[in-house]
Amino acid sequence: MDNEQLGLFAPPQRLFTCTPSKLGTYEDCPRRYRFAYVDRPSPPKGPPWAHNSLGASVHTALRSWYALDPDRRDRAALPTLLKATWVSEGYRDETQERDVFRRALGWLESYVDGLDPHDEPVGVERTVAARTETLALSGRVDRIDERAGELVIVDYKTGRSGLTPDDARGSRALALYAIAAARVFRKPCHRVELHHLPTGTVAAHDHTDESLTRHLRRAEATAADITAADAALAAGTSPDEAFPVAPGPQCAWCDFRRSCPAGAGVEPKEPWAAVERSAG
Ligand code: SF4
Repeated sequence: MDNEQLGLFAPPQRLFTCTPSKLGTYEDCPRRYRFAYVDRPSPPKGPPWAHNSLGASVHTALRSWYALDPDRRDRAALPTLLKATWVSEGYRDETQERDVFRRALGWLESYVDGLDPHDEPVGVERTVAARTETLALSGRVDRIDERAGELVIVDYKTGRSGLTPDDARGSRALALYAIAAARVFRKPCHRVELHHLPTGTVAAHDHTDESLTRHLRRAEATAADITAADAALAAGTSPDEAFPVAPGPQCAWCDFRRSCPAGAGVEPKEPWAAVERSAG
């Protein structure tokens, strides 16, 4: 038997390159995935969302806080940091934007009051990556702590609603980050935490190796579905059939609603709707 028959020269299987967000987009709606990742040029997106601006501003302010010398990490540093990172897009007007800024500053002040400034995280906005037989995964983790010899994945949340341990347990992204962080840093990582800044609460879950593997298998199954949809498209299946719509309440928040027949009938949300509600 020669080497070819033995499979030694068989071309390696192409890995599906993805982030948890890319997989999540397909799971939420294959059509939205197509608009975001397949169609070129991508259809025009709707206007920017204020809640995305708020989330980005708060995340960057926390990154900047950790970039300070530990002796300077206190609440007094926050107004300057938040101003420097503030994203203004999507708000109804200046009054609303100012109100949300004050609210965000209050969240950050309460949050850093509970942190030990001398605790140095293993990573802040750290990109981690891992490969499986079919996936090349990567993603950026808000913070990676080390506690009692294990890594902990920390994800900041700024949305309106509080979160439960079930949210942490069910998050594919957090589980994939835990797997990738363990590989990058060669340390065990089972705990994942959602830090909800508006309420100052933490929703946590301690994964087992088995539960992490289950998340990974589901991610691989989604990647296989996407690969099959791509192949169907390449083989002549119509784009609309290969990537069907999955209409639902999410359509109101979809960037591509105006390009999608299923979303066109959905009542549009104002770009600031989510911060208006979170601002109470
Ligand atoms: S509007 Fe709804 S159905 Fe259409 S792409 Fe967006 S999420 Fe999918």
